[in-house]
Amino acid sequence: MIVVMNSGATQAQVQHMVERVEGLGLKAHVIVGTERTVIAAIGEKREQTKESLELGPGVEKVVPILAPYKVASREVKPEPTVVQVGSLSVGGGRWGVIAGPCSVETESQIIETARAVKKAGAAALRGGAFKPRTSPYSFQGLKEEGLRYLAAARQETGLAVVTEVMSPEDVPLLAKYADCLQIGARNMQNYRLLEAAGGSGLPVLLKRGPSATLEELLLAAEYVLNEGNPHVILCERGIRTFETHTRFTLPLATVVYLHQRTHLPVMVDPSHGTGHADLVPDMALASLAAGADGLIIEVHPDPERALSDGYQSLNFAQFERMMQRCRRVAEAVGLSANG
Ligand code: PEP
Ligand code: MN
Repeated sequence: MIVVMNSGATQAQVQHMVERVEGLGLKAHVIVGTERTVIAAIGEKREQTKESLELGPGVEKVVPILAPYKVASREVKPEPTVVQVGSLSVGGGRWGVIAGPCSVETESQIIETARAVKKAGAAALRGGAFKPRTSPYSFQGLKEEGLRYLAAARQETGLAVVTEVMSPEDVPLLAKYADCLQIGARNMQNYRLLEAAGGSGLPVLLKRGPSATLEELLLAAEYVLNEGNPHVILCERGIRTFETHTRFTLPLATVVYLHQRTHLPVMVDPSHGTGHADLVPDMALASLAAGADGLIIEVHPDPERALSDGYQSLNFAQFERMMQRCRRVAEAVGLSANG
């Protein structure tokens, strides 16, 4: 349920209602909007809850939340959420790009890439140190050594670091180095991991599972939000279909649909979404035209020699050209710059 407070409700009245909600065994999420404050009361509904909350001081009305995802729903918070990752702001009409290699390979590789993507206009650096690989015989990432290189690249360029966390036990280690935790497609429904990442308080970039519905994606986000962590960025990265020309199929209606249903920002990953470097720039432009709040792009100094996902990685010149074209589309659709 949503407890909608009067526009003139006092802080004390809001606090009183939070205590009332919690007293009923429900979780209270306070959402301060530009017009008024609402309290999302989450949990099992009991008889008379609505009626008794409606009598509270400063309460305008109590309405049920129809969507199965509660805190993520636009019903609860109509204004878009802006997630801040270092100097990158995502959402609410600002666009930003997270760029970098699929995997951190060497210190010079990540620092060189960080410098190049920053120069081209990226606002954050990506790079996997813990890699979820389909085959156990593929490169698994440099683990903590990779995290140290990412921190060195941040030190050098000022770019915020976005990197994947694969298991709940690793969250404290990752939190020492990362500015944003990426939860990969394969782990979208790893609920203990979602809770642990949510509990870290760091922004979470949540990628859609290749066979997950958008409702499942939003319910996964709900696990993070339920930890009291509002900093969630959703990411479309392509789904499994019968099509074999692209690695995955990249559905851009996702962006439009999610913006209708949730206040959370939505990014697109055209690198994994297509699996081919020559398809990435145009799909990046299309993503922005569809209203994406940002992009995550794989960039490598020498894609041919990359230890993972080289075939879908842009080199520096390709990335720079893509960014120039993105700026023109972003301007045309009324997005403001970032970084
Ligand atoms: C990645 O970003 O390198 C990655 C593994 O992505 P996904 O989880 O979307 O496959
Ligand atoms: Mn990758």
